[in-house]
Amino acid sequence: MNRKTFIHQLGLLTAGTALTPALFKWMQNNGPFYPIRNNVGYFTGRGGTMGWHITDESVVVVDSQFENSAEDFLSGIFNIASGGPSRYLFNTHHHGDHVSGNGVFQSDNFEIIAHQNVPDLQRVSAGPESRDSVIAANRVFDDEITIESGNETVTAKHYGPGHTGGDSVIWFENANIVHMGDLVFNRWYPFIDKDGGALIENWITLLETVAKEADRDTTFIFGHGNRDFGVTGDSDDVLYMRDYLTKLLEYTRAGIDDGQSLEEISSVNQFEEFANHQSAGARLSLQANIEAAYEELTK
Ligand SMILES: [Zn+2]
Repeated sequence: MNRKTFIHQLGLLTAGTALTPALFKWMQNNGPFYPIRNNVGYFTGRGGTMGWHITDESVVVVDSQFENSAEDFLSGIFNIASGGPSRYLFNTHHHGDHVSGNGVFQSDNFEIIAHQNVPDLQRVSAGPESRDSVIAANRVFDDEITIESGNETVTAKHYGPGHTGGDSVIWFENANIVHMGDLVFNRWYPFIDKDGGALIENWITLLETVAKEADRDTTFIFGHGNRDFGVTGDSDDVLYMRDYLTKLLEYTRAGIDDGQSLEEISSVNQFEEFANHQSAGARLSLQANIEAAYEELTK
């Protein structure tokens, strides 16, 4: 089904009412808007997975992907509910596949919220020529910030550096759904952005903290899902990512303590217990991960 047909059907089916069980089921199977529960869901599109909560009073969106997919998102989301005048966009961190649609949301009167390190990281990574045209958050926070959105309470929390130096975890408290941004690459070798302030050691601690703050019923949305393992998961998936990063750091530390060179340490093909991890290019490979761990442990 093409997008127009999908949007059209969705518009006809909702006609301004709440999600019916039948519509809910239909949407879950057809995307790119995947409802989870309590009018919270995710959108796959292109780039980092987006999250959303929408009612007739307000709309909260997590991450903006790219201009064209942000436009696709906005042309579909208001068929689910009207969204009302309160419009918020959270940026989980500064990477291009999570913030390049910011301008599309800003033009549609969204307030953009992010951790205080994100706007500068965005400008630095844009480079001197395009830094002035960067569209960054106009509201920033240090530890956490809470937004009331219709029947939902949304809290963004910063747990210190992880994937970058400005990551947020977004909690939809009533729905018990948590958007992890890129703090979880579900069974992918993650990008570890050392230049952007990443810190593997704290990344491990923060995943453990988040898993503890959640419960068995919490659903997590991952910045990068996996065809075999899903775009969403539970706290076991969060802890599996913690275990991978722990293994990465321990393995690299052992090599350094043994007097091995970086080349020798990174000559390994895979860790046996994480053989299901996929690589999406040189920057997202075990070798790149070991390089980042080596840098962290030797600096
Ligand atoms: Zn990222």
